[in-house]
Amino acid sequence: GNVRKVEFEIGFEEVDGIVGVGGGRILDFGKVLATEINVPFISIPSTASHDGIASPIASFKERGKPISISTDPPAAVLADITIIRNSPIRLIRSGYGDLISNVTAVKDWRLGKDVKDEEYNEVAASMALMPANLLLVEAERLDLKTPSHLELLVKGLILSGVTISLVGNSRPVSGAEHKFSHALDYLGYGKGTHGEQVGLGTIIMEYFHEKAYGVGDWELIKRSLEKIQAPTTAKEIGLTKEQVIEALEYTKKIRKKRYTILEDLNPTKNDFEIAIEKTGIV
Ligand SMILES: [Zn+2]
Repeated sequence: GNVRKVEFEIGFEEVDGIVGVGGGRILDFGKVLATEINVPFISIPSTASHDGIASPIASFKERGKPISISTDPPAAVLADITIIRNSPIRLIRSGYGDLISNVTAVKDWRLGKDVKDEEYNEVAASMALMPANLLLVEAERLDLKTPSHLELLVKGLILSGVTISLVGNSRPVSGAEHKFSHALDYLGYGKGTHGEQVGLGTIIMEYFHEKAYGVGDWELIKRSLEKIQAPTTAKEIGLTKEQVIEALEYTKKIRKKRYTILEDLNPTKNDFEIAIEKTGIV
Protein backbone atom coordinates (compact mmCIF):
# COMPACT_ATOMS: atom_id res chain seq x y z
CA GLY A 1 0.00 0.00 0.00
CA ASN A 2 2.76 2.44 0.91
CA VAL A 3 4.65 1.60 -2.28
CA ARG A 4 1.53 2.48 -4.31
CA LYS A 5 1.20 5.78 -2.47
CA VAL A 6 4.78 6.85 -3.16
CA GLU A 7 4.50 5.55 -6.71
CA PHE A 8 1.51 7.82 -7.25
CA GLU A 9 3.23 10.80 -5.65
CA ILE A 10 6.28 10.54 -7.88
CA GLY A 11 4.25 9.41 -10.89
CA PHE A 12 4.54 12.71 -12.72
CA GLU A 13 8.20 13.37 -11.98
CA GLU A 14 11.25 12.34 -13.95
CA VAL A 15 12.84 9.64 -11.85
CA ASP A 16 16.20 8.22 -12.93
CA GLY A 17 16.65 5.87 -10.02
CA ILE A 18 15.85 5.06 -6.41
CA VAL A 19 18.41 5.13 -3.62
CA GLY A 20 17.61 3.27 -0.41
CA VAL A 21 19.55 4.18 2.74
CA GLY A 22 18.81 2.20 5.88
CA GLY A 23 17.85 -1.19 7.24
CA GLY A 24 15.99 -4.12 5.72
CA ARG A 25 12.54 -2.56 5.55
CA ILE A 26 13.75 0.61 3.82
CA LEU A 27 15.80 -1.37 1.30
CA ASP A 28 12.93 -3.76 0.58
CA PHE A 29 10.62 -0.80 0.07
CA GLY A 30 13.10 0.79 -2.35
CA LYS A 31 13.56 -2.46 -4.28
CA VAL A 32 9.83 -2.90 -4.85
CA LEU A 33 9.33 0.76 -5.78
CA ALA A 34 12.25 0.79 -8.25
CA THR A 35 11.01 -2.44 -9.84
CA GLU A 36 7.45 -1.07 -10.16
CA ILE A 37 8.53 2.11 -11.94
CA ASN A 38 11.32 0.31 -13.80
CA VAL A 39 14.36 2.32 -12.71
CA PRO A 40 17.67 1.15 -11.17
CA PHE A 41 17.89 0.73 -7.41
CA ILE A 42 20.98 1.54 -5.35
CA SER A 43 21.18 -0.16 -1.97
CA ILE A 44 23.04 1.60 0.87
CA PRO A 45 22.64 -0.63 3.93
CA SER A 46 23.11 0.89 7.39
CA THR A 47 23.54 -2.58 8.88
CA ALA A 48 24.13 -6.15 7.72
CA SER A 49 21.44 -8.25 9.35
CA HIS A 50 20.61 -10.51 6.36
CA ASP A 51 21.35 -11.11 2.68
CA GLY A 52 18.44 -8.88 1.60
CA ILE A 53 20.91 -5.98 1.26
CA ALA A 54 21.74 -7.23 -2.24
CA SER A 55 19.06 -9.78 -3.13
CA PRO A 56 16.22 -9.49 -5.67
CA ILE A 57 13.68 -10.45 -2.99
CA ALA A 58 11.69 -8.19 -0.66
CA SER A 59 10.08 -9.57 2.50
CA PHE A 60 6.97 -8.07 4.04
CA LYS A 61 4.25 -8.97 6.49
CA GLU A 62 0.66 -9.05 5.34
CA ARG A 63 -1.98 -9.49 8.05
CA GLY A 64 0.78 -10.73 10.34
CA LYS A 65 1.95 -13.42 7.89
CA PRO A 66 5.29 -13.24 6.07
CA ILE A 67 5.29 -12.83 2.28
CA SER A 68 8.10 -12.28 -0.18
CA ILE A 69 8.06 -10.42 -3.47
CA SER A 70 10.50 -10.89 -6.36
CA THR A 71 12.12 -7.65 -7.52
CA ASP A 72 14.90 -6.62 -9.86
CA PRO A 73 18.32 -6.97 -8.21
CA PRO A 74 19.94 -3.75 -6.96
CA ALA A 75 22.10 -2.08 -9.63
CA ALA A 76 24.71 -1.37 -6.96
CA VAL A 77 25.32 -1.91 -3.27
CA LEU A 78 27.37 0.68 -1.38
CA ALA A 79 28.28 -0.76 2.00
CA ASP A 80 30.32 1.43 4.35
CA ILE A 81 32.02 -0.80 6.93
CA THR A 82 32.36 2.09 9.42
CA ILE A 83 28.62 2.81 9.35
CA ILE A 84 27.73 -0.88 9.58
CA ARG A 85 30.23 -1.41 12.41
CA ASN A 86 28.38 1.21 14.47
CA SER A 87 24.96 -0.35 13.92
CA PRO A 88 23.39 -2.46 16.72
CA ILE A 89 25.57 -5.53 17.32
CA ARG A 90 22.52 -7.80 17.54
CA LEU A 91 21.76 -7.05 13.89
CA ILE A 92 25.32 -7.82 12.78
CA ARG A 93 25.26 -11.10 14.72
CA SER A 94 22.00 -11.89 12.93
CA GLY A 95 23.75 -11.27 9.62
CA TYR A 96 26.31 -13.89 10.58
CA GLY A 97 23.48 -16.37 11.24
CA ASP A 98 22.03 -15.69 7.79
CA LEU A 99 25.46 -16.12 6.16
CA ILE A 100 26.36 -19.47 7.77
CA SER A 101 22.90 -20.79 6.86
CA ASN A 102 24.41 -21.12 3.36
CA VAL A 103 26.34 -24.12 4.70
CA THR A 104 23.19 -26.22 5.10
CA ALA A 105 21.35 -24.53 2.21
CA VAL A 106 24.02 -25.68 -0.25
CA LYS A 107 24.06 -29.19 1.26
CA ASP A 108 20.29 -29.32 0.72
CA TRP A 109 20.73 -28.10 -2.85
CA ARG A 110 23.24 -30.88 -3.54
CA LEU A 111 20.75 -33.40 -2.16
CA GLY A 112 18.18 -31.97 -4.57
CA LYS A 113 20.64 -32.44 -7.41
CA ASP A 114 21.55 -36.01 -6.43
CA VAL A 115 18.09 -37.28 -5.53
CA LYS A 116 15.74 -35.18 -7.67
CA ASP A 117 18.08 -34.37 -10.55
CA GLU A 118 17.57 -30.71 -9.80
CA GLU A 119 19.46 -28.05 -11.73
CA TYR A 120 22.62 -27.13 -9.83
CA ASN A 121 25.08 -24.29 -10.35
CA GLU A 122 28.54 -24.95 -8.91
CA VAL A 123 29.66 -21.31 -9.29
CA ALA A 124 26.67 -20.02 -7.33
CA ALA A 125 27.11 -22.74 -4.70
CA SER A 126 30.79 -21.83 -4.24
CA MET A 127 29.98 -18.13 -4.04
CA ALA A 128 27.42 -18.81 -1.32
CA LEU A 129 29.73 -21.13 0.62
CA MET A 130 33.16 -19.52 0.43
CA PRO A 131 32.64 -16.49 2.73
CA ALA A 132 30.80 -18.65 5.28
CA ASN A 133 33.63 -21.19 5.28
CA LEU A 134 36.30 -18.48 5.57
CA LEU A 135 34.59 -17.17 8.71
CA LEU A 136 34.07 -20.68 10.12
CA VAL A 137 37.80 -21.35 9.79
CA GLU A 138 38.28 -18.36 12.11
CA ALA A 139 35.60 -19.63 14.51
CA GLU A 140 37.83 -19.62 17.60
CA ARG A 141 38.95 -16.01 16.96
CA LEU A 142 35.74 -14.69 15.45
CA ASP A 143 34.93 -11.08 16.36
CA LEU A 144 32.48 -9.14 14.21
CA LYS A 145 33.88 -5.83 15.45
CA THR A 146 37.19 -6.72 13.76
CA PRO A 147 37.12 -4.88 10.41
CA SER A 148 38.47 -7.85 8.41
CA HIS A 149 35.82 -10.20 9.82
CA LEU A 150 33.04 -7.66 9.38
CA GLU A 151 34.13 -6.93 5.83
CA LEU A 152 34.06 -10.64 5.02
CA LEU A 153 30.58 -10.90 6.53
CA VAL A 154 29.26 -7.95 4.49
CA LYS A 155 30.88 -9.19 1.28
CA GLY A 156 29.46 -12.64 1.98
CA LEU A 157 25.93 -11.28 2.40
CA ILE A 158 26.26 -9.28 -0.83
CA LEU A 159 27.54 -12.35 -2.67
CA SER A 160 24.61 -14.33 -1.25
CA GLY A 161 22.23 -11.84 -2.81
CA VAL A 162 24.11 -12.09 -6.11
CA THR A 163 23.76 -15.90 -6.17
CA ILE A 164 19.97 -15.49 -6.00
CA SER A 165 20.11 -13.29 -9.10
CA LEU A 166 22.45 -15.76 -10.78
CA VAL A 167 20.24 -18.80 -10.23
CA GLY A 168 16.88 -17.04 -10.40
CA ASN A 169 15.70 -18.29 -7.00
CA SER A 170 16.93 -18.47 -3.41
CA ARG A 171 18.16 -22.10 -3.60
CA PRO A 172 21.87 -21.34 -2.83
CA VAL A 173 21.05 -19.48 0.38
CA SER A 174 17.83 -21.02 1.67
CA GLY A 175 17.23 -24.63 2.70
CA ALA A 176 15.59 -26.44 5.60
CA GLU A 177 17.06 -23.97 8.13
CA HIS A 178 15.10 -21.18 6.39
CA LYS A 179 11.95 -23.30 6.31
CA PHE A 180 12.32 -23.62 10.09
CA SER A 181 12.55 -19.83 10.40
CA HIS A 182 9.51 -19.40 8.14
CA ALA A 183 7.61 -21.91 10.31
CA LEU A 184 8.36 -19.80 13.41
CA ASP A 185 7.15 -16.70 11.54
CA TYR A 186 3.92 -18.41 10.44
CA LEU A 187 3.23 -19.75 13.92
CA GLY A 188 4.20 -16.42 15.48
CA TYR A 189 6.53 -18.07 18.00
CA GLY A 190 9.49 -16.48 19.77
CA LYS A 191 11.16 -13.11 19.36
CA GLY A 192 14.19 -13.97 17.26
CA THR A 193 15.36 -12.01 14.24
CA HIS A 194 15.52 -13.74 10.86
CA GLY A 195 19.25 -14.39 11.28
CA GLU A 196 18.88 -15.68 14.85
CA GLN A 197 16.18 -18.12 13.78
CA VAL A 198 18.10 -19.45 10.78
CA GLY A 199 21.22 -19.68 12.97
CA LEU A 200 19.43 -22.13 15.27
CA GLY A 201 17.98 -23.87 12.22
CA THR A 202 21.46 -24.27 10.75
CA ILE A 203 22.72 -26.07 13.88
CA ILE A 204 19.76 -28.48 13.75
CA MET A 205 19.92 -29.18 9.99
CA GLU A 206 23.72 -29.55 10.03
CA TYR A 207 23.22 -32.13 12.80
CA PHE A 208 20.84 -34.12 10.55
CA HIS A 209 23.20 -33.88 7.55
CA GLU A 210 26.15 -34.99 9.65
CA LYS A 211 24.24 -37.85 11.24
CA ALA A 212 22.84 -39.16 7.95
CA TYR A 213 25.76 -38.57 5.57
CA GLY A 214 28.77 -38.01 7.82
CA VAL A 215 29.45 -34.61 6.22
CA GLY A 216 29.35 -31.42 8.25
CA ASP A 217 30.24 -30.13 11.69
CA TRP A 218 27.29 -28.81 13.68
CA GLU A 219 29.51 -28.26 16.72
CA LEU A 220 31.76 -25.88 14.78
CA ILE A 221 28.73 -23.88 13.64
CA LYS A 222 27.43 -23.73 17.19
CA ARG A 223 30.83 -22.71 18.60
CA SER A 224 31.16 -19.89 16.07
CA LEU A 225 27.71 -18.56 17.01
CA GLU A 226 28.63 -18.77 20.69
CA LYS A 227 31.90 -16.95 20.02
CA ILE A 228 30.06 -13.93 18.59
CA GLN A 229 27.42 -14.20 21.34
CA ALA A 230 24.57 -15.01 18.98
CA PRO A 231 21.76 -17.21 20.34
CA THR A 232 22.33 -20.99 20.25
CA THR A 233 19.43 -22.03 22.48
CA ALA A 234 15.66 -21.84 22.06
CA LYS A 235 15.28 -20.02 25.36
CA GLU A 236 17.45 -17.11 24.22
CA ILE A 237 14.95 -16.22 21.51
CA GLY A 238 11.90 -16.84 23.67
CA LEU A 239 11.00 -20.33 22.47
CA THR A 240 9.87 -23.31 24.53
CA LYS A 241 10.83 -26.89 23.68
CA GLU A 242 7.23 -27.61 22.61
CA GLN A 243 7.24 -24.62 20.24
CA VAL A 244 10.51 -25.71 18.63
CA ILE A 245 9.14 -29.24 18.09
CA GLU A 246 5.88 -27.88 16.66
CA ALA A 247 7.80 -25.54 14.34
CA LEU A 248 10.04 -28.39 13.16
CA GLU A 249 6.99 -30.53 12.40
CA TYR A 250 5.41 -27.57 10.59
CA THR A 251 8.64 -27.11 8.64
CA LYS A 252 7.98 -30.39 6.81
CA LYS A 253 4.80 -28.86 5.33
CA ILE A 254 6.52 -25.77 3.92
CA ARG A 255 7.48 -25.59 0.23
CA LYS A 256 7.71 -29.37 -0.20
CA LYS A 257 9.08 -29.02 -3.73
CA ARG A 258 12.30 -27.57 -2.34
CA TYR A 259 14.05 -30.83 -1.49
CA THR A 260 16.01 -30.60 1.76
CA ILE A 261 17.40 -32.89 4.45
CA LEU A 262 13.90 -32.97 5.98
CA GLU A 263 12.26 -34.32 2.82
CA ASP A 264 15.21 -36.71 2.56
CA LEU A 265 15.05 -38.13 6.09
CA ASN A 266 11.44 -37.37 7.03
CA PRO A 267 12.33 -37.19 10.75
CA THR A 268 9.74 -38.20 13.34
CA LYS A 269 8.78 -36.10 16.34
CA ASN A 270 11.10 -38.29 18.39
CA ASP A 271 14.00 -37.66 15.95
CA PHE A 272 13.44 -33.92 16.35
CA GLU A 273 13.44 -34.24 20.14
CA ILE A 274 16.74 -36.12 20.08
CA ALA A 275 18.26 -33.58 17.66
CA ILE A 276 17.41 -30.50 19.72
CA GLU A 277 18.57 -32.17 22.93
CA LYS A 278 21.85 -33.44 21.45
CA THR A 279 22.64 -30.02 19.96
CA GLY A 280 21.74 -28.26 23.20
CA ILE A 281 19.04 -26.15 21.54
CA VAL A 282 16.88 -27.13 24.54
ZN1 LIG B 1 17.95 -15.51 5.00
